[in-house]
Amino acid sequence: MTRFDYVIVGAGPAGCVLASRLSADPGVNVLFIEAGDQDTNPIIAMPRGFGELLGDPTTAWHYPTRAFGPSQQVEYWVRGKTLGGSSSVPPTPAVRAARCTSRPPAGPTRCSKT
Ligand SMILES: Cc1cc2nc3c(=O)[nH]c(=O)nc-3n(C[C@H](O)[C@H](O)[C@H](O)COP(=O)(O)OP(=O)(O)OC[C@H]3O[C@@H](n4cnc5c(N)ncnc54)[C@H](O)[C@@H]3O)c2cc1C
Repeated sequence: MTRFDYVIVGAGPAGCVLASRLSADPGVNVLFIEAGDQDTNPIIAMPRGFGELLGDPTTAWHYPTRAFGPSQQVEYWVRGKTLGGSSSVPPTPAVRAARCTSRPPAGPTRCSKT
């Protein structure tokens, strides 16, 4: 039976950083568990694809809140359910890394594409 030194549940940003750091030591055995699928769904790479991802129970959790307010309404809070967790499903458009410099003390920040 394989024994593990660490068990990490959830491959969101937090879990990925932990898994990466811990598994850098070849003497450490890490078990990494993710409930969702691989992040190979092509819609994950589409900035405007979030609506479909967030509505799909295979790529998003829909956690119900407790009933609240005068009408005892329940909201469903979405979180990502795939490799990358919630960072794989947000509507934030992809922006290529830019090299930025600011001119002290309060000058404008200038960015150029890398
Ligand atoms: C719609 C949306 C938009 C966002 N927009 C932005 C933004 O523009 N900018 C920004 O900085 N942040 C944004 N965030 C927040 C950011 O995505 C989160 O702060 C970040 O992903 C949290 O990382 P985490 O690892 O803690 O959790 P998560 O990314 O939520 O990862 C948790 C992982 O655990 C897995 N998991 C859960 N339960 C189990 C289980 N029982 N067994 C196995 N695996 C499990 C999930 O499937 C998921 O992969 C957004 C979040 C959402 C939902």
